[in-house]
Amino acid sequence: MYQYKEVAPGRFVLSLDNHVEIMEAVSAFCVEKGILAGVISGIGAVCEATFRFLDPATRQYVDKTFSEQMEITGLEGNISRRPDDPGSPYLHIHVTAGRRDYSCIGGHLLCARINGACELFVEAFDAEVGRRFDPETGLNLYKL
Ligand code: FE
Repeated sequence: MYQYKEVAPGRFVLSLDNHVEIMEAVSAFCVEKGILAGVISGIGAVCEATFRFLDPATRQYVDKTFSEQMEITGLEGNISRRPDDPGSPYLHIHVTAGRRDYSCIGGHLLCARINGACELFVEAFDAEVGRRFDPETGLNLYKL
């Protein structure tokens, strides 16, 4: 599903295999390495991606899938503990994707299928970083 190299203590270069789903692969990597806090960034190419938009007025999630070849021009996110399962990683990742016409779309990443490559950089923190549900926003915010 991926290859990786630890280039410094707690810092990893991660190459995901072609055709894998990004969230699934990153979750598997975090479980394998026991990473429950950190940051992630990267680039790549996908043929399908589902983004989520939260409308703060209605608190409704709007999910949309784009089935086309896109460049991941930027992937940024963080890793913390699941609020409902503190022993498991919680990924919060946002993506900007470039289309064939060079315009960009993006949002909160639910899933994306690699078609080409995906090169990621993960920095693990040796610290406790949890989350809690915030009733005001309806979000799982950092619990620090
Ligand atoms: Fe988000």
